[in-house]
Amino acid sequence: MTVSRVDYGDVLSMTEEELSTLMTTLGAERFRGQQLFQGLWRQAIRNYRDLSVWPRKLQELMEREYPFKRLGVVRHETSADGTVKLLLALQDGQHVETVVLPHRYGYSVCVSSQVGCAMGCTFCASGLKGRVRQLTAGEMADQVLVANELLASQGQRVSRVDIMGIGEPLDNFDAVIRFIELIHHPRGLYISYRHITVSTSGLVPNIRRLAETGIPVTLAVSLHAPNDALRTRLMPINRAYPLTKLMSAVRDYTRRTRRRVTFEYLLLKDVNDREEHAKELGRLLQGLLAHVNLIPWNPVPEHPFRPSPAADVRRFQSIVQEYGISCTIRRELGQEIEAACGQLRLREEERVLR
Ligand code: SF4
Repeated sequence: MTVSRVDYGDVLSMTEEELSTLMTTLGAERFRGQQLFQGLWRQAIRNYRDLSVWPRKLQELMEREYPFKRLGVVRHETSADGTVKLLLALQDGQHVETVVLPHRYGYSVCVSSQVGCAMGCTFCASGLKGRVRQLTAGEMADQVLVANELLASQGQRVSRVDIMGIGEPLDNFDAVIRFIELIHHPRGLYISYRHITVSTSGLVPNIRRLAETGIPVTLAVSLHAPNDALRTRLMPINRAYPLTKLMSAVRDYTRRTRRRVTFEYLLLKDVNDREEHAKELGRLLQGLLAHVNLIPWNPVPEHPFRPSPAADVRRFQSIVQEYGISCTIRRELGQEIEAACGQLRLREEERVLR
């Protein structure tokens, strides 16, 4: 039988409605789409043969017309604190990183949204070689499925998703929104919107678009500097969207969504960690529905920065708090496993090139 292809990309990127429509275009019953959706998300099937409720003919047709391949685990490193870092192979041979983190409340997974990154932040390993390509919604979703498979042996599953791995999520806007809708679906993983965080280096137009969707996820802005001169030095995106534009978009976002915005602030010794920087940050965020997350820097050999001493991090925190701003220090998880984002992928590329 010859079928006319409906081009939705990979089946893991498709909604239940799209899968049902696909089934009818293939001459199968519509409910086969619901069965496939549940098979992909509830059973995490690795091929159509695993879908035992399906007739063999439909399995074979889909294998021929819509082959899908789940992500493969290339490397798997576990640190003493239980953080697991995974290097995953995509179908075209590219790699992404996914991190599974233990918390008091359960497990979160840090998902990559692109292969590489175009933003060029000067402290980051992910952006060192630029952006290679966007991930599909299905490739992002599969990272969560792989994390769940890993946790299943302990009777656990992922309860929070942070889109904070390799890549700038808002630079892959449509696929990220589709991914969020897929993992939130009640017949899928049913992860609450409030347990999903989208990070951005400050792509102002897409912060506004995210607010317009009305999806109540948490927005995390990677700030890393309290003034334009320093931020432009660390993050080239600040040239296009300086702090006045960024803060105006964030203010509108909080007004519209009534959601508190998290500001990520990586502390680099003698670069952005001085008392005057903490005061400037306090003044910048005062009165905003905001939370500051201070991040001790995980060294990347390719970059000259050094981490701030613990005492300086605590001093920075208390100054920010004096401005009435909630401020926490992120636990340093998985330090001994090259936990700085993008490092595993970089090492794998170097190994292949050698
Ligand atoms: S910090 Fe984020 S936005 Fe900046 S280069 Fe790295 S991955 Fe891209």
